[in-house]
Amino acid sequence: MHPTTYDAKAYSAVSDKSPMASTTIARRDPSERDVQIEILFCGICHSDLHSVRNEWSEFMATNYPIVPGHEIVGRVSAVGAKVSGFARGDLVGVGCIVDSCRHCFECDEGLENYCDHMIGTYNFPTPDAPGHTLGGYSQQIVVHEHYVLRIKHPEEQLPAVAPLLCAGITTYSPLRHWKAGPGKKVGIVGIGGLGHMGIKLAHAMGAQVVAFTTSESKREAAKMLGADEAVVSRNSHEMTAHAKSFDLIVNTVAAPHDLDAFIALLKRDATMALVGAPASPHPSPNVMNLIFKRRSIAGSMIGSIPETREMLDFCAEHGIVSDIELIRAEQINEAYERMLKGDVKYRFVIDNATLAN
Ligand code: NAP
Ligand code: ZN
Ligand code: ZN
Repeated sequence: MHPTTYDAKAYSAVSDKSPMASTTIARRDPSERDVQIEILFCGICHSDLHSVRNEWSEFMATNYPIVPGHEIVGRVSAVGAKVSGFARGDLVGVGCIVDSCRHCFECDEGLENYCDHMIGTYNFPTPDAPGHTLGGYSQQIVVHEHYVLRIKHPEEQLPAVAPLLCAGITTYSPLRHWKAGPGKKVGIVGIGGLGHMGIKLAHAMGAQVVAFTTSESKREAAKMLGADEAVVSRNSHEMTAHAKSFDLIVNTVAAPHDLDAFIALLKRDATMALVGAPASPHPSPNVMNLIFKRRSIAGSMIGSIPETREMLDFCAEHGIVSDIELIRAEQINEAYERMLKGDVKYRFVIDNATLAN
């Protein structure tokens, strides 16, 4: 246990059936390499909801009480004696990672997101009370400086920058890894928090972008976000018009669905990268669809710290932020229900000042 702690207000759930409610948590006093951050805004990711309701129990059971939130932006309020990169007053962000082993093969390659000992911003083991990490639905967080990210966007954009820390990097990483850019046709499936960022980023990288949605109402909205075309995936005629034409599809859908309908749209040697993490598995895809065109299905997990820095710089340069609806802390439960219905354009962000009430 760290010797000294201080209190911070937060929102937490105490079981998979209980609503999110106001609480008080303990944060450690910053040690010599720590940065203490006053959290100003925190995005609501669908992963928060999966975790609060213990929907990934077979893979990663939830530790209660859970304080979710890994799309954190705020201001540095104190730094440890050996912190060189940050000073009090700096605008910073924290994403999904607050620690890793820092000496394995993955960490040496700058891929902390694939470290077997990665510590996520919430629900991962820590010596701090209560024994697992507590995330950004709170007034403060204390993080080792290696996992703190500098924000270069203008300060007034801060609420809309928060979702870049997960939704942004989780789509940026596969787009870069599979080389989205000029001359490439890229599909983005599911126009929610991740998907709307995927459209903006793929468009800014110079790719031809096609958005796939189950919601007719998002067809025009997807074009406003930067898609060259939008397809309602329930319409098989619209789907087959794109057969064998994609270099890359990034699939962000948060529910099990038929993958074959999208695999058939890939060119030879092309990949569908799955980033959506549904509570139960997708129906198994038909192997023939993969064999005949040497197609791949892959997964991708958020992004590394160096890549998150690169993504934040890319977004600041291109004027990219998230489209958000700012909410008060007491609206979190309602926001979860609306997110489940797809009723958000495109990310809820908590005004953390409202946690004080
Ligand atoms: P979100 O805002 O709820 O968006 C998900 C979108 O998926 C919805 O807007 C909807 O788009 C589509 N969708 C939802 N339910 C559907 C259904 N039953 N059938 C078809 N489409 C459906 O969620 P998010 O925050 O973007 O997160 C998406 C998923 O990615 C979650 O599972 C989350 O846990 C996961 N995630 C993974 C990583 C990673 O590292 N791999 C990181 C962050 C999040 P349309 O209305 O356009 O169809
Ligand atoms: Zn997330
Ligand atoms: Zn490691």
